[in-house]
Amino acid sequence: MARYITSIEAFEEAKKHIPGGVNSPVRSFKNVGGNPLFIASAKAAKVYDIDGNEYIDFVGSWGPMILGHSHPDVILAIQKAAAKGTSYGAPTLLETEMAMQIKKMVPSIDSVRMVNSGTEATMSALRLARGYTGRELVVKFEGCYHGHNDSFLIKAGSGALTHGTPDSPGVTRGTAESTLTAKYNDLDSVKQLFDRYGEQIAAVIIEPVAGNMGVVVPEKDFLQGIRNLCTKYGSILIFDEVMTGFRVARGGAQERWGVIPDLTTLGKIIGGGLPVGAYGGKQEIMDKLAPKGPVYQAGTLSGNPLAMAAGLTTLKILEQNAGFYDMLETKAARLENGLKKCLADLDFPGVINRVGSMFTLFFTDEKQVRSFDDVMRCDTNQFAHFFKYSLDNGIYLAPSQFEAGFVSGAHTDRDIDKTIDAGYNALERLKK
Ligand SMILES: *Cc1c(COP(=O)(O)O)cnc(C)c1O
Repeated sequence: MARYITSIEAFEEAKKHIPGGVNSPVRSFKNVGGNPLFIASAKAAKVYDIDGNEYIDFVGSWGPMILGHSHPDVILAIQKAAAKGTSYGAPTLLETEMAMQIKKMVPSIDSVRMVNSGTEATMSALRLARGYTGRELVVKFEGCYHGHNDSFLIKAGSGALTHGTPDSPGVTRGTAESTLTAKYNDLDSVKQLFDRYGEQIAAVIIEPVAGNMGVVVPEKDFLQGIRNLCTKYGSILIFDEVMTGFRVARGGAQERWGVIPDLTTLGKIIGGGLPVGAYGGKQEIMDKLAPKGPVYQAGTLSGNPLAMAAGLTTLKILEQNAGFYDMLETKAARLENGLKKCLADLDFPGVINRVGSMFTLFFTDEKQVRSFDDVMRCDTNQFAHFFKYSLDNGIYLAPSQFEAGFVSGAHTDRDIDKTIDAGYNALERLKK
């Protein structure tokens, strides 16, 4: 391919060879219109497209890049590991070190299994929960995303207390029937399911801070209420911390909210930008996994040395850098406050939800966004314009209203202030 190719030309070419031109759908800009940027490289808080443009990046590869792109220590660790061979399919010291590091940072985890993606982590955790309890039903929440495994590609059935229906062709009705859906921040909707199906519920899976419908903050007592129901009925509580793990606090949302799950799924940050997932939790449950126990799960490349090197280096930096999360909080608050002031100055309706370095600007007339229904009332057309205007101003946001933005340790105050100025400019254009 010629070096002078543009993103537009590159997308046309890619579409001939890759379904929709992309290897993950939301990358295609389908939700906002326009042409996706083809990225040539990334460094610290910036990404550079093949057209020669520079952007301040708030996608951060959808979460992993909490240290910023191409962190020198992470790159060095990958290079060192690569020089020793890229995969052996046999145990390495790095894997034990990784497991110890995870346990130190997430104390509810007694034992942890590495996999290759968040999807694999949630899929495997659900199988384990079912194997451990001998039950089949799983409760998920509308608007939460747990990867593309069949059991989670389910939407609410018609009417309360019904089993789910497939949210994608190819998911069988049989699978849908073992997934129940409840409403985020609505403990009663969970109680009703337990009243009716309690003894059959193997697990409840939840994003403890919702990030995949845009950021929605769990209300006081919601998570603890779910914990109590799971304990009462002997169901496994799975916190899907693929996004929130090592993001909203060193120990994830469970640390921040003080609610302890039985199993935790991890991904994104844990791989330092390489493909990694993990799931872990109580010893008694994890002991049911093969080869120790009867629940089967395996992976040719699981615990891959390059991935372990990148992830472990990232986690150690997060653990050892005492002020890191306070620094992120300060930067993200600066962005939130700046954007709030833009909205106020322009008398523009909108809601910003933020937890630590995760945030979403919702285009809505509502005063708050606390449920999936609130999220669904947002003006996606307005968002699409805001997205495009931001891109024109050198700000790269996730190309959908229903996503989180991420501030990294590499964003400078200057980057944040430029983003606020760009936001003001974009909102002003939107008003016209
Ligand atoms: C991203 C994400 C997943 C899926 O992870 P992949 O690595 O994309 O398979 C699962 N759960 C949550 C909460 C996520 O944010």
